[in-house]
Formats: sequence, C-alpha cells, structure tokens
Amino acid sequence: MITAASYLEKLFSLEGKVVLFTGAAGGIGSALCKALAQAGASVALCDINLSSLQALQGEIVQADGGASVHLLDVTDKENISACVEEIVRMYGHIDVLVNCAGINKRIGLADYDEQTYDRIMDINLKGTFFVTQAVARQMKEQFLRTGKGGSIINIGSHNTGWVLGGCSVYAATKSGVYALTKSESVEWAKYGIRSNCISPGHIQTPLTTVTWEHPTRSKYLLEHIAMNRPGYPEDIVGVCILLASDASAYITGCEYRVDGGCISGGQPWEYDTDF
Ligand code: NAP
Repeated sequence: MITAASYLEKLFSLEGKVVLFTGAAGGIGSALCKALAQAGASVALCDINLSSLQALQGEIVQADGGASVHLLDVTDKENISACVEEIVRMYGHIDVLVNCAGINKRIGLADYDEQTYDRIMDINLKGTFFVTQAVARQMKEQFLRTGKGGSIINIGSHNTGWVLGGCSVYAATKSGVYALTKSESVEWAKYGIRSNCISPGHIQTPLTTVTWEHPTRSKYLLEHIAMNRPGYPEDIVGVCILLASDASAYITGCEYRVDGGCISGGQPWEYDTDF
C-alpha cells in the first residue's frame, strides 16, 4: 500500500541530490541548508564565514544530515572555479544551486558612493551570475552524460516588485537576479536546467535586524504585511524544497513570493463589513 507519507517522500525527497548553497551561514541560508539536508540532500555549505559554516555543519551532521564546508567569496572568480571543482571532486555531481549570498546598504539614491555601489552589485548580481555560470557548465555536462540537468534557485527579494526607500542599488541587483532567472530558464531548458527565483518579503535575520528594531520602520513593515507578522527563515523552507525536488520538474522561469501578503496589499484600510 502507498501511504501518504511514502507518496510525499517520493515526490519531494532530495535523497541523492547535491546542493551547492552560497550565503549558507546567513539567517535564511542556515535555515534552508538544515531543511535541505533533513530532506535528504548533501549540502555543500559555501560562505565567507568559516566558523559559522563549521558550526552549521556540526548541527546538520548531529541531525544525521550530510554537509561539507567550503570557503567561497562569490566576488572572486578564481575562488568560484576552485570551489565548484572541489565540490564536484567530493560528490561527483551538483544537482541544485541556491544563490543566497547577498548584502544591502540602506541609504538614499543620491548618497551612494561608487565603492558601496560596486560592492552590492559585485556580491548580489555579478557574484550570482558567475557562480551560476560555473555550476551550469557542470549541470550541462551531467545532462549530456546522464540525461539529468539540475535546478537553480535564486534568492531575489520583495524589492524586485515593490521597492522600499533607501534600497535603490539592492533593488536593482535583485531585479537583475530575477531577470537572470528568466534568461537561465530560456537558454538552458535544453540541458535539463531549470531556474526559479524565491523572493522573500520581510524576514527577520541579521540582514534586517536594523529595520525590525527601528521604531518607525518596523511599524511601517507590519502595516504592509497582510499577515501582520515578520517572516521567519523557516517560512521559506517549503518552496525551496519544492523547487529543489523533482516535484517541480515542469516549473522554470518563475518568481515565488513568500511575503505574508505584502505585494497583495498589506493591512487593509478601514472598510464596512459584517464578517
Ligand atoms: P544574511 O543573514 O546577512 O546572510 C547572507 C550571507 O551571505 C551571510 O552569511 C554573508 O556573510 C554572506 N555573504 C556576504 N558576502 C558574501 C560573499 N562575497 N561571498 C559569499 N557569501 C557572502 O542575510 P539574509 O537575510 O539571510 O539574506 C539571505 C538572502 O536573502 C540575501 O540574498 C538577501 O538579499 C535575501 N533576502 C533577505 C530578506 C530578508 O528580509 N532577510 C528579504 C528578501 C531577500 P556576512 O554575514 O559576513 O556578510
């Protein structure tokens, strides 16, 4: 008899899949890496923070998951090539790429200096581009050899569709990440490579502590979230497992918003109702 549990396990299991995950040590990254490992994947944890990566690996291994640690600065092309080679040497294949490394600096459009502009662009957009290029070459080779390509998951942002003041460069990079997602889906479908974008809303992590602890900005955020609470990294797990698994075999080029109802309109204004 097929039970619901065995049916769902077959549909969504990541058993045997290898995930290269950038920004693994961050708030969203560490929650997603733990979940992917729990769902059966071997996760290559990539980030610039060695001690945080090691701590995360320890937690995953303790929960009987598989994970390895790889120092990766996504702005360094040589480092990217060496890291991808190291992971392929270690596991033999890469089935899923999650581009999660990202930074923000919240200042007015007119106030950015070139150095800050370049740093945000280099990590969020250029870094994502060249990590993806290196991994896609490997996925294409796998497809030609075995018929199996891979899944790319780009972490976009609320700011791809609805921008907050003071996030101009960040919004430009994340809109670019969504544009790359569509190009990847169009150009690489023939190699069995799918690409999708997860755009989180306002998630409580180290990146956003500064806004959630701010008296007026946190009030503004809550008013713009229909569900009237911050998102948590764990809220993104479901869609990430869907996109990493074969359950999403025919899904590519899409943006998934996980935002508690921000884009839909946030908190409603006063209106007449008997409900
Ligand atoms: P986070 O906690 O700051 O995580 C980002 C991780 O990326 C950190 O470990 C960071 O290291 C790392 N990183 C920075 N520069 C890197 C580089 N050059 N190479 C490799 N790794 C690097 O932020 P988060 O909130 O989890 O965000 C994760 C992703 O989700 C980001 O792409 C962000 O834009 C996106 N996002 C977040 C939210 C939200 O509300 N939190 C909403 C929408 C989208 P350091 O800590 O040393 O910088």
